[in-house]
Amino acid sequence: MLSSVLPGPPAAWVPQRTGRIAARAGFALALAGLLVQVATADTAASTAGGPARVGTIGLTALLSLLRAVLIRTDRAAWALLGLGLLGWTGGEATWTAAVASGADPGTPSAADIGYLAFYPFALAAVWLLVRSRAVRRLPRALLTDGLTGALALGSVAVAVAGPSLARGAGGSVATFAVELAYPILDVVLIGLVALAVVGADFRERAWWVLGAGSLLFAAVDVAWLVEEASGRYVTGDALDVLWSVCAVVFAAAAWQQPVDVRRVRLQGWTVLAVPVGSVVAALAVLASRPPLAATELAVAAVAIGAVRATRAVRRSLATTQARDEAVTDDLTGLANRRLLLRRLDAALADTGRAHALVLLDLDRFKEVNDTLGHPVGDELLRQIGPRLARTTRPGETVARLGGDEFAVLLPAVDGEEAALRAARRVLAGLLGAFVIDGLELFVSASAGIAVAPVHGSDGATLLRKADVAMYQSKRAGSGPALYRVGTDPNSRTRLESATALRHAIGEGQLVCHYQPQVDVATGVPLGLEALARWDDPRRGLLPPEEFLELAEQAGLMGQLFDAVLRTALEDCRRWRHGLDHLRVAVNLAASSLQDGRLAARIAAALRASDLPAAALTLEISDGGLLDTGEIRRTFGTLHAMGVRVSLDDYGDGRSSVGMLRELPIDQLKLDGHLVGAVTGDRRGRAIVRHTVLMAHALGIEAVAEGVEDAATLRALDELGCDYAQGYHIAPPLPPGEVAAWLAPRVGAGARTAGAS
Ligand code: C2E
Ligand code: CA
Ligand code: CA
Repeated sequence: MLSSVLPGPPAAWVPQRTGRIAARAGFALALAGLLVQVATADTAASTAGGPARVGTIGLTALLSLLRAVLIRTDRAAWALLGLGLLGWTGGEATWTAAVASGADPGTPSAADIGYLAFYPFALAAVWLLVRSRAVRRLPRALLTDGLTGALALGSVAVAVAGPSLARGAGGSVATFAVELAYPILDVVLIGLVALAVVGADFRERAWWVLGAGSLLFAAVDVAWLVEEASGRYVTGDALDVLWSVCAVVFAAAAWQQPVDVRRVRLQGWTVLAVPVGSVVAALAVLASRPPLAATELAVAAVAIGAVRATRAVRRSLATTQARDEAVTDDLTGLANRRLLLRRLDAALADTGRAHALVLLDLDRFKEVNDTLGHPVGDELLRQIGPRLARTTRPGETVARLGGDEFAVLLPAVDGEEAALRAARRVLAGLLGAFVIDGLELFVSASAGIAVAPVHGSDGATLLRKADVAMYQSKRAGSGPALYRVGTDPNSRTRLESATALRHAIGEGQLVCHYQPQVDVATGVPLGLEALARWDDPRRGLLPPEEFLELAEQAGLMGQLFDAVLRTALEDCRRWRHGLDHLRVAVNLAASSLQDGRLAARIAAALRASDLPAAALTLEISDGGLLDTGEIRRTFGTLHAMGVRVSLDDYGDGRSSVGMLRELPIDQLKLDGHLVGAVTGDRRGRAIVRHTVLMAHALGIEAVAEGVEDAATLRALDELGCDYAQGYHIAPPLPPGEVAAWLAPRVGAGARTAGAS
């Protein structure tokens, strides 16, 4: 049984003991084969040298295949490489047999079929490796970059080796073509590996080993071309030894331990390294007045590279714009929640002064939306932005928190009275009509104030208390209200139900229902989202909205999460039989991230469940998430473990792009409201399209939730959204119904595996 080792390599890597021993023995034998070749180099080719060569390369093929058999991760890729090496072995055997019988096979010969067979397999292997590290579809840029690189390198190869070859080949087109095929295929291989090194994870050693092998391979092939051209090549010389070394290096790449399966991220200016480098090389070739074939390759490389570079620049400009949007609210141009929290944090660091947070909520804004429509509501919010901004003094920050909620940060305020005066000043800014479409609208707002350090010394507490005060203000309807201890709804009944909830968690009354998430294009199940329910013996099954707030206030979120996580992992493991990649998503309250032991608890739960970390996705919505070192560390650890993090409710007005930029997020979960708009007007569709594009540009998955009808699912498919979840696909299912739902949607192979 494979056990999960956390944090560390994915469980699927760990090979059995006997497998490891066999691999060591194989590599030792291959090294011995190399030594024999060195010892017999430049002596009679028909003695030990030939068999040693065939043996060494044959061993590397077996080693690669062994790796594929023993370890599931990247199995197909290394199997392909093994087949390629097997082809090479065949070529080598054919060549050796011909030489032993005294003939000079020349070029091309039957042996070349085997040699050349190596390339399609090796290229397919590398391609699979790159693709498995990409989220779903490989960015097209990768293909164009690979093509540019290959063309440029090909043109360099032709320019360098072409003239002498043409002379040496004695004019035979077949000879010339086959001899040139090697270096050109080599550069394609190098190009692909180079792309992977640039785009994928630098820490994955396999890429470096593959890169070193391909470079050496190309160098030996070029050296051979030169020897061939001058008639100096003899079978069994140093070049033959070096070719065997290449084969050993390729097999060694197969046995490199993966860091963890990571995606190809094309980001920043580094992505331009390949296209720009290729264009420069191709231009240099053109400047050297090369043979015609090289000119054509070089021109093609320059053309494709130039198009690619223009696109990259345009995309990069779009990213810069997104960065500005990360701290501002796009409707009003005010600071967003993220920026407010950051400034609040900065202010709170000065513990010697008092700081106030004013929370504003428009009165009856819902009526505006309902009676006059959302466009008018939006326009109103847009006009309110500058009004509020005008009321503030230097150093103060006005932010829109989402919906019709605003906040003002008053750093270094002179006590509660001064905070109240400031709040009145801000509210006064709303007096006077707003004119929209010739209509005069009057707006009022309620305001709650919390002051640090009296009411709390951290952002989350202040925000919560300002919120309590704001509701007080709304109820009283008499201007801004300061937080008062007595107004907090921490009443007796609340305390009693908190105790009940604590017991419920302890006694296993919390159950999970599971809502399937499927591949938009194929309908194949990706995973399940665990949604908590409280199975109260008296009141029946309660939805999360009935107990989550209580859990938050009673400090029970951590315990709730642990209980849901344990149940979800256990259930997932049962359903995973025959569905190897099934994931389970568990919701995590932003407040739980403040707990420094969170990552360790998750690691322990994974270990107990015997599931790999990749089976778990944590859905986090960032409302009120404070960007602290603790959170960064937690994210870092989770990411290193291989646990996926999904940004939940993206686009509901509270989530921010900033979090995406600064923390390792693996998935964007588009909020139901956003998703619903996809079948509405052009604007809704445009927003979803760009959200999906942004996710893919960041190299992460896009999941749509709240998919309620077939038209929405179709539209999502057209926009390239990866996965979907919603009533149209399935409602949250009680655990007893999940297996029956999954069964008909799984491939036939998986079903038989599940039955065993
Ligand atoms: P969420 O994470 O956004 O979960 C999706 C919610 O949307 C679920 O409600 C689900 O039943 C509902 N839903 C699913 N498909 C559709 C659809 O097509 N249309 C519409 N309109 N709604 C759909 P549910 O189960 O009541 O959960 C509500 C929220 O409670 C969740 O929202 C999540 O934020 C929170 N929650 C649930 N379980 C947990 C938990 O274990 N821990 C934490 N921290 N939060 C939880
Ligand atoms: Ca969720
Ligand atoms: Ca959600």
